Amino acid sequence: MNNFAYTRAESVAAVPGLLTSGPRNKILGGGTNLVDLMRENIEQPGGLIDITRLPLAEITDLPEGGLRVGALVRNSQLAAHQHVRERFPVLSQAILMGASAQLRNMATTGGNLMQRTRCYYFYDSAARCNKRQPGAGCDALEGHNRIHAILGSSDACIATHPSDMCVAMSALDAVVQVTGTEGPRSIPIVDFHRLPGDRPDTDTNLRPDELITAVDLPPLAFATNSLYRKVRDRASYAFAIVSVAAVLETENGRIGNVRLALGGVAHKPWRAAIAEKQLHGEPATEESFRRAAEAELAPARARKHNGFKIELAKRLIVSVLSELSRKGTAQ
Ligand SMILES: Cc1cc2nc3c(=O)[nH]c(=O)nc-3n(C[C@H](O)[C@H](O)[C@H](O)COP(=O)(O)OP(=O)(O)OC[C@H]3O[C@@H](n4cnc5c(N)ncnc54)[C@H](O)[C@@H]3O)c2cc1C
Repeated sequence: MNNFAYTRAESVAAVPGLLTSGPRNKILGGGTNLVDLMRENIEQPGGLIDITRLPLAEITDLPEGGLRVGALVRNSQLAAHQHVRERFPVLSQAILMGASAQLRNMATTGGNLMQRTRCYYFYDSAARCNKRQPGAGCDALEGHNRIHAILGSSDACIATHPSDMCVAMSALDAVVQVTGTEGPRSIPIVDFHRLPGDRPDTDTNLRPDELITAVDLPPLAFATNSLYRKVRDRASYAFAIVSVAAVLETENGRIGNVRLALGGVAHKPWRAAIAEKQLHGEPATEESFRRAAEAELAPARARKHNGFKIELAKRLIVSVLSELSRKGTAQ
């Protein structure tokens, strides 16, 4: 671990200036990802800006059933919140399928959004990794790539985004609130994380002087009928191989509204816009769900070891939407 300066931020307004006051300064949230990466010398911040005493740990109601989640709300607090469980159950389920109870007690909403990939080659400083060291090359391309991306990848990087929470937030059209030296701005979560292109070292569109202050969940009445399903190598304490977050509203057996996002398949939470468009107005049947899943996965590109993810993602989409359609009919 490199030597670094430690500063405790006294106000939100002070953070952008602190971030730009030294080389490679980084925010410290719960520390469950950043400190691990520092121990391995993968992250080498010049200074840590500890924001954990800032007043950003509240969940507040927004008009018409929306919620504002402060950046320091812990994952366990968010999953257990009554309004989250009632209005956005998919989010509560996704968080509870991630990490462990101890980790969720520490992990913050902002830190979860910013957590880095679990690609083995990113963590192995002896391996070539364009994300860790731009221009170095990527050993995952021809290496052991069973957990890697099938959608939106590039020849520079096939890493996936590891978060469960963000997949649910993507299906819920969450909006990330940030503030920097130029003031506050709002970033729809679908635009918050990036595809790798030729700059996989940059995970998000957050600027170096900005911090996340909150995430807004817009009102979405039909999100009460929502579900998260995660396929992983162990029953707990494992990252997603493939996951699906879905929200479904049916009317007289036809699909009125649907929101669908996939995890474990791309460099960012993957909003399944092709499938959503195709499903709108269709009969809520397994055949429709399968056709939409085929269309969404048509651009998928398999590497040597991860081809199984393509069929797995299709089956997961069909099974989650079928379950939601049965639940929606029963309500
Ligand atoms: C063993 C293990 C298993 C795990 N399993 C899962 C899993 O199954 N699913 C899953 O989704 N996650 C899993 N995680 C990851 C865990 O969810 C993340 O480590 C956690 O969410 C990170 O939050 P944090 O507050 O600890 O972030 P930190 O480690 O403090 O920070 C992470 C990054 O976010 C930045 N940051 C933090 N807060 C802000 C802010 N407000 N604004 C801007 N930048 C900020 C930091 O600078 C840093 O770059 C696992 C972690 C471990 C260690």
